[in-house]
Amino acid sequence: MKKYIGVDVGGMSIKAAVVTEDGQMLSKYSCPTQTDKPYTVMTENIYNLCLSILTDADLKKEDIQGVGIGCPGTIWREKGIITFANNLDFYNVPLVKEFKKYWNINIQIENDANCAALGENKFGSGKGYKDCVFITLGTGVGTGFIVDGKLFTGRRGAGAEAGHMVIRIDGEKCTCGRRGCWEAYASASALIRETQKAMQKNPDTIMHKIAQEHGKVSGRTAFEASKQNDPEGKRIVKRYVKYIACGVVNLINIFRPEVVIIGGGVSNEGQYFIDMIQRYVNRYHYGKKLNPKAKVVRASLLNDAGILGAASLVME
Ligand SMILES: [Zn+2]
Repeated sequence: MKKYIGVDVGGMSIKAAVVTEDGQMLSKYSCPTQTDKPYTVMTENIYNLCLSILTDADLKKEDIQGVGIGCPGTIWREKGIITFANNLDFYNVPLVKEFKKYWNINIQIENDANCAALGENKFGSGKGYKDCVFITLGTGVGTGFIVDGKLFTGRRGAGAEAGHMVIRIDGEKCTCGRRGCWEAYASASALIRETQKAMQKNPDTIMHKIAQEHGKVSGRTAFEASKQNDPEGKRIVKRYVKYIACGVVNLINIFRPEVVIIGGGVSNEGQYFIDMIQRYVNRYHYGKKLNPKAKVVRASLLNDAGILGAASLVME
């Protein structure tokens, strides 16, 4: 069976695995992302990570058909360039050219959310569907779109950034410089911000106790309180889901996918959370019963979607 390497570069760590053509991972390693170092150091780290997983899987470089890398930011795949990644402080980084100095192999790079969308489409919850919308709810809101079986990236890979569609004019400040972006309301960071605000106003809410037990205010605090029937917790979760669902309906109205896949840490809240989004979608999507329904599902590959999707970049 053919073997590939998938690499997922994140803000905290770089993960890599040997992936077979049917989506099995043979060996997986990670190392810290040294965000204070230049891209040359990161490239060397990625290469060393590749060597480690090869040794671990008892394979040689010759056994690998290609290397796919998922990276945050705007990725110009055709040129092999990271155009812009603010978290890594990278501007016009020629990652592919640099990597080829170490290993002259078939290599492709793509945006990390796009890779996760590809991974879920090929091996996870989106398997068998030609039109998928993928959304990851984490520190930010990442999106990826599979349109008629193909990844939609826009010109020079700079599109598909639905986290930065404004859902509220003059709303909360976003990291991109605008106000009221979907990301500023639907990310886990936004949920934590709203939870903290509510806690300051309400000394009586059970959320204080929950946060103390967990050691901090997290994306789980309000959900936990809501399950325990705390009125403030319920109010925050309801509003948060409404913000997520508002963006989801916008995207359904544009792409009319078969499935909407929800990933990221918040999706761990489980099926009842997904059901809440589905109910809103059923009620507000354009055309109601006349137009095809989009099914909202939970991502199934979790943290491995990025690695598997990155590997799939070199699988044709
Ligand atoms: Zn924004």
